[in-house]
Amino acid sequence: MAASKIITAKSLKFFEKYLNNASPTGYEWEGQKIWMDYLKPYVDEFITDTYGTAVGVINPDAKFKVVIEGHSDEISWYVNYITDNGLLYVIRNGGSDHQIAPSKWVNIHTKKGIVKGVFGWPAIHTRNKSKEEPPKLDNIFIDIGAKDKEEVEKMGVHVGCVITYPDEFQVLNKNKFVCRAIDNRAGGFMIAEVARLLHENKNKLPFGLYITNSVQEEIGLRGAEMITQTIKPDIAIVTDVCHDTTTPMIDKKKEGETAMGSGPVISYAPAVQNKLRERIIETAEAKKIPFQRLASSRYTGTDTDAFAYSNGGVASALISLPLRYMHTTVETVHKDDVENVIRLIYETLLTIKEGETFSYFD
Ligand SMILES: [Zn+2]
Repeated sequence: MAASKIITAKSLKFFEKYLNNASPTGYEWEGQKIWMDYLKPYVDEFITDTYGTAVGVINPDAKFKVVIEGHSDEISWYVNYITDNGLLYVIRNGGSDHQIAPSKWVNIHTKKGIVKGVFGWPAIHTRNKSKEEPPKLDNIFIDIGAKDKEEVEKMGVHVGCVITYPDEFQVLNKNKFVCRAIDNRAGGFMIAEVARLLHENKNKLPFGLYITNSVQEEIGLRGAEMITQTIKPDIAIVTDVCHDTTTPMIDKKKEGETAMGSGPVISYAPAVQNKLRERIIETAEAKKIPFQRLASSRYTGTDTDAFAYSNGGVASALISLPLRYMHTTVETVHKDDVENVIRLIYETLLTIKEGETFSYFD
């Protein structure tokens, strides 16, 4: 099918709502509810686990199980220390970027709801020009407009509250999607769209399909580690974001060359099962889906590793969405790539036969 036919007005509306909802690591359930609500017509049942991972299942009785996966959490901060004059110091919950913090608005999540704040920063006039201090974890701070620690506490803010950025979905020049947390809300969106296409095209799969939205990826693949033990899949196709390396100050000799708009990125790494990856590449070639290649030494750093090295070894592969400005509030992806990742996962699934082992020794 043509790439431009995939994202509909309805699916884009879902993507926007799903992105605009905050889903910090460890606190993903409201986002999962939005995601499950969208997915519901396209699956037979759901599995959820104690920490919040959600799985939509097609053909739950099938013995042979295939996972398609993205992660549902977004990076955030924790309130770590409150000064006597009512300022908040933070620690990371995931790989939050200290360099972009100054001058950003924040949402502090409390029992009483959202409390607004700002990351303050000393004025240019008051700084020592000969010795500029870059923003660091120990010098960035949040001001919530409280006069002292007591007022902070009265406002419902305490150590352990999580903090997200309020930045919402926008479209840049018609075909670029911009938001915080496209890493990896795009993954959840794309696998949900695969389920919708399977349903609308009335495809009958000869296996159980587990559309998995894992929690806690940003702090070390933890949700995937848990759910792979529950599902015990035979195959896992994971999708996450990777870097567009064509913007300034990125060393292509170190990071490789991948660009948004040039197609899904297919990974080479020890955790990636070679025959499964070759199936994905053959599918891309047969269906004329553009793709790029990326090599990772040792780890992919994505949930692929968690699935691959579980249950005695699960044939796993990684299809990534190239993204600019990862872990900032203006993460940017190309609409064509989003649609081509959906197509590539969808078309690959249609080639998988029941009981296929992808063994190197057959
Ligand atoms: Zn990330």
